[in-house]
Amino acid sequence: MTKDRYTVWDNCLRTIKSSIAAQSYKTWFEPIKPVNLEDSILTIQVPNKFFYEWLEEHYVGLLKATIQKELGEQAKLEYQILMGPASGERKQNNGTNGHYQSDSSLGFMPDAFMNPFVIPGIKQVRVDPHLNRNYTFDNFIEGDCNKLGRSAGMAVAKKPGGTAFNPLVIYGQVGLGKTHLAQAIGNEVVKTNKNKNVLYGTTESFTNQIIQAIKNNAINEFVAYYQNIDILILDDIQFLANKVKTQEIFFHIFNHLHQSGHQIILTSDRPPRDLEGMEERLISRFKWGLTTDLQAPDLETRMAILEEKMHKDGIDLPRDVVEYVCYNIKDNVRELEGVLNSIAAQASLNQRTIDVDLAREVVRKFVKEAQRELTLDHIQNQVADHYNIPVDKLKAKTRKRPIVIARQLSMFLAKSLTNKSLKTIGEMFGGRDHSTVIYSCRAVQDMMDTDREFRLTVEGLEKQLSMAS
Ligand code: ADP
Ligand code: MG
Repeated sequence: MTKDRYTVWDNCLRTIKSSIAAQSYKTWFEPIKPVNLEDSILTIQVPNKFFYEWLEEHYVGLLKATIQKELGEQAKLEYQILMGPASGERKQNNGTNGHYQSDSSLGFMPDAFMNPFVIPGIKQVRVDPHLNRNYTFDNFIEGDCNKLGRSAGMAVAKKPGGTAFNPLVIYGQVGLGKTHLAQAIGNEVVKTNKNKNVLYGTTESFTNQIIQAIKNNAINEFVAYYQNIDILILDDIQFLANKVKTQEIFFHIFNHLHQSGHQIILTSDRPPRDLEGMEERLISRFKWGLTTDLQAPDLETRMAILEEKMHKDGIDLPRDVVEYVCYNIKDNVRELEGVLNSIAAQASLNQRTIDVDLAREVVRKFVKEAQRELTLDHIQNQVADHYNIPVDKLKAKTRKRPIVIARQLSMFLAKSLTNKSLKTIGEMFGGRDHSTVIYSCRAVQDMMDTDREFRLTVEGLEKQLSMAS
């Protein structure tokens, strides 16, 4: 017969209650939650490290006896420690459930040092992995841009520390999924391998904790604590640059983990060789395993990512809007999400219909100048090509209708696709002034509103131009 954790723990509590003072029972046992029971290992969650140490010091004998009575000789007790800050709301939440913290920005907690090696007893220590559960392999869309990283990540998740990919270094520009992929590995391990201690943290929080530890004269505990981690994920290691002491401590932790066959996963915004202000011995270690980059996704992958986010958020964009957005947002998946959210917000707050017009407005706000170094020349050439007229005519005084339309359209595109001022645009069209540019933009907008054919032409050109940039 298999017992569930609640029954087992309730029975334990009954025994404990009858053997200690009521106040002690209330203080030390009531806040405990049983979170798991597997193979005679009962995992209980305690609010913090101090709590755990107190239990170990004062009640280990009692705990051991009661648990063995319930689960037999081979019974083991594990602690899961909710590592909250010393004060504050998180402590209040402690013990309410077995979920781990999803706000990864909290990083490692400075007061959470502990070293299970030096504490006798019958436990293993569980740490809160600080993972965001939303980052999984399932929703990390595969494309040519991330194939190697994704499959290396899966391999690592299946056999942490047991592949040649140690450390696994994932690098790439901002917004391309480094954090997502690194956390997906962590989440996968947590899901499939409950005995492993996974810890995710930003380099920033790691650094802050070291500063804290130095202040508290607790560097040894700090290092010892990290040495217990089976899978350490350190995000954005470029921030280790020029931090000599942090690098030194990390070096020791790295060596220990690596020698013990524990897995290290690092992310960086550039390849290890380009990390400046970083000790050579660290850089050379980063190269021991696998270094893989994440590239900007191609159009199909961007569309798949966007569709996945739409699905998740329950937002429905028409196909042409999806295409428009993905044609225009190329270098940053986070921006793609930003545009999606912004479109959804506009649609619901301002009761706007979701169409390409709305998308264009939103995208314009997002796309940075740097992302589209579209030149006015390029726009003029493209439009002239399309209408099959010599490009010079766009700058000339001619008032022939087809040329006027092409000229106005070029100005419109110049205004909407670049950040050039009206004045600059005017100058590029044979020295016209800014009011002519404004007039042209309006004229084009009017035509787009009334002439479907023309509108499709404009959209086609926009696509072409934004693909070329
Ligand atoms: P980085 O750490 O490289 O700056 P993030 O991991 O924070 O980037 O990714 C930015 C956003 O883009 C996240 O919300 C992430 O879920 C999303 N994202 C990036 N790549 C993908 C992908 N291949 N599939 C699904 N979502 C992705
Ligand atoms: Mg990141």
